[in-house]
Amino acid sequence: MTENDSDLVLDGNAAAGLLQEIFALEITTAQIQCETCDSVGAVGSLRLYAAPMGAVLRCPHCDARLMTAVRTPHGRWLQMTGTRRLRF
Ligand SMILES: [Zn+2]
Repeated sequence: MTENDSDLVLDGNAAAGLLQEIFALEITTAQIQCETCDSVGAVGSLRLYAAPMGAVLRCPHCDARLMTAVRTPHGRWLQMTGTRRLRF
């Protein structure tokens, strides 16, 4: 990182407006790309494995885990380790 690059670094609060635009949109029609097999499809087309505390959503083509959403007493958690990208 050069001295000029450090001038461009802000904390996450600076992205609040953009992130609020993204996370307020309809998630089931968003296009999700699988990191494992590169297939693209609607989030609503993923396979859901429901659990008492949340949901595991898997790729319908290769069964890779794309999203895990969990509700706990300490908050809501979203993990998207198997997702290459999400497009709204
Ligand atoms: Zn896949």
